[in-house]
Amino acid sequence: MSRIAVVGAGPAGSSLATFCARDGHHVTLFESESQPRAVVGESLLPEGNRVLELLGLSMDGFVEKHGAVFHRGLQYVRFDFDEAERPRWTVAHHVSRVEFDQRLRNLARNAGTKIVIEQLKRPPSGFDWVIDATGRRRAMARHWTRFEGHPLLRNAAISNYYRGAAPLRGGKHGDVGILSLPGAWFWVIPLNNALSSVGLVISPERKGLKWDDALKECPEAARVLANAEAQGRPMGHQDFTEYATTFSGPGWGLVGDAALFLDPIYSSGMLFALESAERFSRVINGTLSAGDYERQIRAAAALFEPLIIGFYDEDFHELGFAEKSVQSPQFRSGTVSLLAGNVFDDAPRYAKIVSRRLSDLAAQLRADRQKS
Ligand SMILES: Cc1cc2nc3c(=O)[nH]c(=O)nc-3n(C[C@H](O)[C@H](O)[C@H](O)COP(=O)(O)OP(=O)(O)OC[C@H]3O[C@@H](n4cnc5c(N)ncnc54)[C@H](O)[C@@H]3O)c2cc1C
Repeated sequence: MSRIAVVGAGPAGSSLATFCARDGHHVTLFESESQPRAVVGESLLPEGNRVLELLGLSMDGFVEKHGAVFHRGLQYVRFDFDEAERPRWTVAHHVSRVEFDQRLRNLARNAGTKIVIEQLKRPPSGFDWVIDATGRRRAMARHWTRFEGHPLLRNAAISNYYRGAAPLRGGKHGDVGILSLPGAWFWVIPLNNALSSVGLVISPERKGLKWDDALKECPEAARVLANAEAQGRPMGHQDFTEYATTFSGPGWGLVGDAALFLDPIYSSGMLFALESAERFSRVINGTLSAGDYERQIRAAAALFEPLIIGFYDEDFHELGFAEKSVQSPQFRSGTVSLLAGNVFDDAPRYAKIVSRRLSDLAAQLRADRQKS
């Protein structure tokens, strides 16, 4: 049995520690904070349930999420997870990270993990494996590998909590709201009946955009927040899209954001945190090669990426906001499969087609519109 150090008790680290401890390894989980903090990463995807079920995590008390509603100007479109091509899970959850991360830490402790509250500056010695799960700080990873930003995704964000946000127009209870304006978008995540997490993501061409000015350009966000009260101070997030050039080496590995983070749009971060944790536990127990681990995570990210770039590049809007008659059932089911996070292992056929052909499909639609 191996001696394993996992650094960082966020979702990726606690999940990995649980799987490894259940496999009989001696696991020490190092975490800088004695209590989990309220952080972003609150809206989960249905496909994340695969790993949550393996962990046996209770999701009691978290708000159910059945779909997403996208607003742009006065137009909106809603996607329900049950429209996916091969729906496996049609419900996800929005979570308070304080509660969710604590439940995951408890699972790790109950599985036999030793939890040490300490902020590590360098990889600890005396272990067969040291795994970096410190999120976007990548505190251990920077000793082992390099990181690359994404040439097209260089966004920043501001977020806060609001009491009393109005329900989203065109949405169902529990939907995540994505409310866009040129070069920026708001997220609205209902954490419970009173409290919502609201954020503004800003692309480089709108650098310096102020929250109140963005509200003036986004009628739905202005309406939803008209009578809502901000709680606490806004938090800033910057330069979050980065990929490690290598995900593992002799005796070390990266899971969660420490390996890669794409972008907040479509809420894929926690899915990758959970999937990478479960898969890296298989690398440690010898049932998955390190090369396959990296290939699987990168292949899943590559399916998501065109939908993300298409969103900032208008392709998604061209297709997503087209009338339903123009949107083929295959386009919708493929898109919803991607939005549900069905990107690992055996992604459905139309999800792959939408991902591969998004920009061609949008160009064709624009040409058809010009002709008619
Ligand atoms: C603006 C924004 C919005 C987002 N919204 C969503 C969303 O709606 N849905 C979604 O799925 N994802 C979202 N994400 C992504 C999500 O936040 C991450 O993907 C997720 O938190 C990754 O989990 P993790 O366990 O890898 O890292 P983290 O959650 O960051 O956990 C890392 C842990 O490591 C600890 N730590 C750090 N350094 C050290 C150290 N030196 N020593 C010991 N401990 C340390 C930290 O205290 C923390 O507990 C968003 C990201 C951004 C930037």
